[in-house]
Amino acid sequence: MRLAVLKERRPAETRVAATPETVKKFIALGCTVAIESGAGLPSGIPDAEYAAAGAEVTPDVAATLNGAGIVLKIRAPLGTGEGAVDELSLIPRGALMLGQLQATPEMAATYAQLGIEAGAMELLPRITRAQSMDILSSQANLSGYRAVIEAAGAFDRGFPMLMTAAGTISAANVFVMGAGVAGLQAIATARRLGGRVSATDVRPAAKEEIKSLGAAYVGYESEESKQVQTAGGYAKQLSAEFYAEQAKVVAAHIAKQDIVITTALVQGRKAPILVTAEMVASMKPGSVIVDIASDAGGNVALTQPGQFITTDNGVKIIGFNNWPGRIAGASSALFARNLLTFLTTFWDKEAKAPKLPPEDEIVKGVMLTTGGAVVHPSLAPAKAA
Ligand code: NAD
Repeated sequence: MRLAVLKERRPAETRVAATPETVKKFIALGCTVAIESGAGLPSGIPDAEYAAAGAEVTPDVAATLNGAGIVLKIRAPLGTGEGAVDELSLIPRGALMLGQLQATPEMAATYAQLGIEAGAMELLPRITRAQSMDILSSQANLSGYRAVIEAAGAFDRGFPMLMTAAGTISAANVFVMGAGVAGLQAIATARRLGGRVSATDVRPAAKEEIKSLGAAYVGYESEESKQVQTAGGYAKQLSAEFYAEQAKVVAAHIAKQDIVITTALVQGRKAPILVTAEMVASMKPGSVIVDIASDAGGNVALTQPGQFITTDNGVKIIGFNNWPGRIAGASSALFARNLLTFLTTFWDKEAKAPKLPPEDEIVKGVMLTTGGAVVHPSLAPAKAA
């Protein structure tokens, strides 16, 4: 079984879907591994390290994909007209491709038409057995860390209280909005740096988690928010009335903050706006807002996705895209392990190939296409009436 790893070509993508550590493990499973030259460099991994792990370093996309039975990607391959290389058309029919594959009906139809067995890892069910394969969690965790580091870099004071002979500098007030995987890591990181940390979320379970990390809980709760959590652990969309009440609580708190980190997402929808232009206007000059939800449209009304802006009242708003890509070495290491765990879980040792039982909950959750057809329950074309 030949396993191919491509260089990522989408804008600002710095990660790579395999590391020398996972390459060695794939070889131990009986694979040969081809990695496109330069694929690991933005993550700090030179070709020589892959070669030392036993991979064949290949010169271009075509040579990498030639004969591949498995293709590992961070993000969806480029198609016709999307870049200098049409990666999609070079993927052998029947190959299993895993990554964050843009699980839209259009993309699924394209994968099916090309005979690619596409597994969209972002759709992995949130069950205990799948935790170690969960790319959303592993990448969100590092985004939360990186957001705080980025805020600390842009902040013109310090996080901790600094007592010096020349006097005292007070600790920074840090407010984390959304206390899921990214937000909890942001809380922990901001605490480690010495900030005075508070946080909010709408899921009742998050309140206890915020407190257990030593942060203060600030928020609005109602009968409605008691039911907000889905079986998968995500937050549902709430009513306009709820958001208005939540905004009142937040507005009073935000005016006193030095750093705000926003991480709130609602599954399958645009990110909710939690910080309005008026709230930003109420903040002190020099305050920093980091919007990790920028890839989903942002939690801050003034966020410009991909940009670092300074408002007229001197508030810095950092809305970079692809937060895990800003800490590429660690993100690649965890993403690569997530993919390795998925494949080893469904590995047929005798055939030395993946075996994906269609009835398995994880397989059902992830696979977009099988045998040239769209099979995912949320994307398969409706049966003709
Ligand atoms: P997410 O990235 O979808 O959202 C981030 C956070 O934003 C969530 O905590 C959500 O409640 C919050 N949010 C949404 N609307 C908000 C609003 N208006 N105001 C404030 N906060 C708002 O979520 P996530 O971080 O991926 O995960 C959420 C939960 O799922 C966590 O409890 C996590 O532990 C759980 N989880 C379970 C598994 C598993 O069992 N395998 C895996 C991953 C995550």
